[in-house]
Amino acid sequence: MKTGRCFEHPLRDALVVIVPVLGDNFSYLLVAGDRAAAVDPADAAPLLEQLDARGLKLEWILNTHHHFDHVAGNEELKARTGCRVAGPGCAHIPGLDQAVADGDRLSVGRQTIEVIGTPGHTRSHLCYYLPSGAALWTGDTLFTGGCGRLIEGGSATMWGSLHTLAMLPDETLVFCGHDYAEENLQFAALLQPDHPAIHQRLVRIQALIREGKATVPSTLAEEKATNPFLRADTPELMQRLGLAGKSAADVFAELRHRKDLFA
Ligand SMILES: [Zn+2]
Repeated sequence: MKTGRCFEHPLRDALVVIVPVLGDNFSYLLVAGDRAAAVDPADAAPLLEQLDARGLKLEWILNTHHHFDHVAGNEELKARTGCRVAGPGCAHIPGLDQAVADGDRLSVGRQTIEVIGTPGHTRSHLCYYLPSGAALWTGDTLFTGGCGRLIEGGSATMWGSLHTLAMLPDETLVFCGHDYAEENLQFAALLQPDHPAIHQRLVRIQALIREGKATVPSTLAEEKATNPFLRADTPELMQRLGLAGKSAADVFAELRHRKDLFA
């Protein structure tokens, strides 16, 4: 997806502005009244433009993890808006004001965001959940049709984190950190050529891309039905991978290995 164009997704009593940045990253603004939070600001400029155009006061930067392409805009945004920075309490979050962890809550306007710990991609990776809007920001843990690479965690840890997210309501909207939907669903379709819902979803995603629309959000229901990384505990995937009788974490590890070789 080209950067430079933003998209809106309304929630109940709030709005999400989807801001494509750095070629294939998604940054976001959660807008609640005249207040906002920026999730994973990889580049300050397009977010400042949106804040200005909409007359919003930025209260928080919410970082899911410390990778450069999720925090690079922190310091400029903080300097320009006076916002506070929340994120995992690791050493590499620029301008961190408040270390948060699983179970913590933050307020944006009148909205309450819950922090969910999802280690795996990094040791201290966090997701942010807005129950009132049924919205979830998943960073590099859960992607549309896929999941993040295991950079600082093992497969059992990542499977546990994905399983935690899968327990949220089916209607939960998933706003992920990268635009990898097409290649993820191509991998899923190759893995399960006899699974019509995966193919239908790939066709829908390719249509969105052709039309210049955002590939986010998805819903957890869609992910649970078609994302192989949330389905490592299904007999059909176990059999497909020749791992019948193995644990879901073993199946997940094999899936992740194959995806790493795929792209
Ligand atoms: Zn990352």
